[in-house]
Amino acid sequence: MAVPVFDQVLIGGRWVPADGGTYPVVNPATEEPAGHAPACSVAQAEAAARAAREAFERGPWRTMSGAERSVLLGTAAERFQAEMDGLVELTIAETGAVRAVAQAQQVRAVAARLRRAADLALAAAEEPVAPAGVAVREPVGVVACITPFNFPMTNCAGKIGPALACGNAVVVKPSPIDPLGVAELCRIVDAVLPPGVLNFVNGDGAEIGQALVRSPDVDMVSFTGSTAVGRRIEEAAAARMKRTVLELGGKSPNIIFADCDVERALASAMSVWTFHSGQICIAGTRVLVEEPIYETVTRRLAEAGPTLRIGDPHEPGVVVGPLVSAAQRERVERYIARGREEGATLACGGRRPPHLPRGYYVEPTLFTDARNDMAIAREEIFGPVITAIRFRDEAEAIALANDSDYGLYGYVWTGDAERGLRVARAVRTGTMQINGSAPNPDAPFGGYKLSGVGRVGGRWALGAYSELKYIGWTT
Ligand code: NAD
Repeated sequence: MAVPVFDQVLIGGRWVPADGGTYPVVNPATEEPAGHAPACSVAQAEAAARAAREAFERGPWRTMSGAERSVLLGTAAERFQAEMDGLVELTIAETGAVRAVAQAQQVRAVAARLRRAADLALAAAEEPVAPAGVAVREPVGVVACITPFNFPMTNCAGKIGPALACGNAVVVKPSPIDPLGVAELCRIVDAVLPPGVLNFVNGDGAEIGQALVRSPDVDMVSFTGSTAVGRRIEEAAAARMKRTVLELGGKSPNIIFADCDVERALASAMSVWTFHSGQICIAGTRVLVEEPIYETVTRRLAEAGPTLRIGDPHEPGVVVGPLVSAAQRERVERYIARGREEGATLACGGRRPPHLPRGYYVEPTLFTDARNDMAIAREEIFGPVITAIRFRDEAEAIALANDSDYGLYGYVWTGDAERGLRVARAVRTGTMQINGSAPNPDAPFGGYKLSGVGRVGGRWALGAYSELKYIGWTT
């Protein structure tokens, strides 16, 4: 079957052949090519940063009013919306997301994020400061947007949307694992912007991202990915005090008290298996369960895991798809082996499903009788693996939740509203969701501790992608 071939990168408003030709993007469900992606050179990445710099300095993007930028971003959202149904198959093929996740969170979410950016552009850029002055929000300059494999287009839209709304120019560099949808997104958005405001580069390795981070033309790096790479980026960015937004890993606690609605809590715990096979930064992978219901909750989970339909992500009704790559599956399998070595009980899963000889599948996996000092409780696995730990009381639940290097997200389930709030306030994470409250696009989002630096989400993204200037005067 013919697969799409993308052999160009976008520099200064022109699509040009990538210096290194193309490399195959692998369909994780079939292990066959899903397409071919451009492999640009370091020189092309540097040229893209330079082109963004020129477009930024030249204007008119930076000097336009927010209302003018809003109109263009609104058009980008409309054009994406018109094409989005056609992008679902490509998204399933390159990411392995099951159809429902691909449709809602990988594709439709992109249109919503672009529309939101159009609204953000309308926010006031100036605020009076008494007695005689004004605080002015200005763009930072050129923003390198470096994105991960798990939600490629959605994550990219979450960066370019607010960055552009603030008047910055951007260079996009997606994960080499599944960059094809991002190339399409960039094609659609670039078509409505002044040339050079949005640039797209891609290559099969770390050096393209590294070139952007050290480029003198880049003022800011907006990065989503692993904590290890985020740390390297922060170190490199420090040389020129580049602004950074770092959205990194997590090991989020899902705290289940005995007085909660157990059915809903169970469903939330199982979303680690069904939501993109656990390849999601906010996954509640550390399930902390209060003693009286620990046996019931873990038994119910262990019974449910093997009943979930795992397989071809194209098929409606399949809820667990493959992991994105062979490397990611190996990483998950290493952690499963580690959990057993450390003495946790493998209550379900742990294997490659025998009926799926091809594709990077791992069964929904549950470890019980785990301790919080085990690697499976401390490190981000990024796969369909849940680690269940028991606690005796509220104080111990909070202590366990906080005994983590990460601090991205957390969940609490309880019938006692006051306790829910108390626990949510006591846990040191960027977000806490009580009793299944849904992620809120208008809320601030980001991590404590090793989960990152900075806040995006809603109007808080304006702060992340802007410099603030004070102009004072005497009368
Ligand atoms: P990764 O860190 O391996 O790669 C992310 C991006 O960085 C890719 O584009 C990659 O090519 C690039 N890169 C790699 N080395 C680089 C370097 N030295 N300099 C510059 N760029 C470099 O992450 P991944 O495996 O693609 O994604 C999974 C990770 O992303 C998980 O840790 C997950 O928690 C995290 N994540 C976090 C959030 C969040 O919002 N906090 C959201 C999604 C994913």
